[in-house]
Amino acid sequence: MKYVSTRGDATPQPFCDILLEGLAPDGGLYLPETYPTVDDATLTRWRRLGYADLAVEVLGLFIDDIPDDELRRIVEETYTAERFGTPDITPLRPLGDSGILVQELSNGPTLAFKDMAMQLLGALFEYELGRRGETLNILGATSGDTGSAAEYAMRGRDGIRVFMLTPEGRMSPFQQAQMFSLTDPNIHNIAVAGVFDDAQDIVKAVSNDLAFKRAHRIGTVNSINWARLVAQVVYYVAGYLRATTDNDQAVSFTVPSGNFGNVCAGHVARSMGVPIDKLVVATNENNVLAEFFATGTYRVRSGAETHETSSPSMDISKASNFERFVFDLVGRDGDRVRGLFGEALATDGSFSVTPEEFDRVASFGFLADTSTHADRVATIEATWAQHGSLVDPHTADGLTVAARHVADGVPMIVLETALPAKFAATIHEAIGREPEIPERLAGLLDLPQRVRAMDADVSQVKAFIAETCA
Ligand SMILES: *Cc1c(COP(=O)(O)O)cnc(C)c1O
Repeated sequence: MKYVSTRGDATPQPFCDILLEGLAPDGGLYLPETYPTVDDATLTRWRRLGYADLAVEVLGLFIDDIPDDELRRIVEETYTAERFGTPDITPLRPLGDSGILVQELSNGPTLAFKDMAMQLLGALFEYELGRRGETLNILGATSGDTGSAAEYAMRGRDGIRVFMLTPEGRMSPFQQAQMFSLTDPNIHNIAVAGVFDDAQDIVKAVSNDLAFKRAHRIGTVNSINWARLVAQVVYYVAGYLRATTDNDQAVSFTVPSGNFGNVCAGHVARSMGVPIDKLVVATNENNVLAEFFATGTYRVRSGAETHETSSPSMDISKASNFERFVFDLVGRDGDRVRGLFGEALATDGSFSVTPEEFDRVASFGFLADTSTHADRVATIEATWAQHGSLVDPHTADGLTVAARHVADGVPMIVLETALPAKFAATIHEAIGREPEIPERLAGLLDLPQRVRAMDADVSQVKAFIAETCA
């Protein structure tokens, strides 16, 4: 299995060669040359498998340059009941007779769905770096979920260090405690005196210094990494198999979306032949995606137009994984994708697909809809009152939108992308009290914290990296 770029101008590469890379050299995103397909007999056989065994099978269709026994070891060490809280790994929780089931993806170490992919990524990085005899220094900026998921995935791993920049004093106490209580010597938290954009600018400045980047082997773990995406395909297959008893039955998924990474994995699963009817994209007030699926126009927002909402992990100005779907939508025409993303978007900040292309969207099962602050608060309240189930604000966006699109006889699975414990203020607004913190994290807020404070100054960050790596 080789991987090609959405802009059609990069040499096809095997999995392990794109694993440690972000963008393809032509500026595109990697996708498999063709999607592997699953037939009826395979789906039937998979019904008997637990999560890790299923993951070995699904990932094995995309990864043929890691020996089978190594891949099995990596997957079995990753998807354990200890790490993900339940032997089911991603259990389904029906909400009464609403036709909606919540698929729990947030029982991992940082209580958000990013653990599902990031934990596997950590193990894959360690494997590949060890094989090459190389090391990697991961540099990132975070205001929440991604940074903590990356640190919990990389902690204690050979050959990997993490340098994570956070805006000083701007994360919730829970998120700070999650990150700053890590004492592993390979994890370095840096609190920058500034806002998230200042931290992000420092990361960009370091990454643009190619000599420094090469000398200190700087890498990233952002959501365009193909390995993260393929890890997510597994839970769509698992959700499908557990919500149905035979392969004639289809399901739909509603996915709280920001960068389109999560729902893009659903698109891959559907393209493989998993019986998925609709893929419903739920956005918050930052409805870049809902606008595209309603109009065929994709318009990136400016910083000033990007709203700070109560589902902050979906506050995006552009959807970095969306290019992968558009590649498939335009018949995998790399020149066309380059014209849209490389040219029109770069000059106008927007593009429109042709009416013929837009007509094809429905055949991919996609729908999209927007949820607002008032919607999510009402949904949290109603889901709690009617079903005794407490959901986080992002999952509430999913439930709000799902309710508008449930069809008779088709189970609607809503992906639970975080646990309510992380978003106490909005939960309090909705139900008048604070969410419970899961038992295994009970003492978290009292643990000693370790963080290095720095000015929003590129040279200080570079000096610290250089000193640590020396
Ligand atoms: C990252 C995240 C999302 C958005 O996922 P995308 O892959 O960017 O679409 C939604 N909810 C939560 C809680 C997240 O952390």
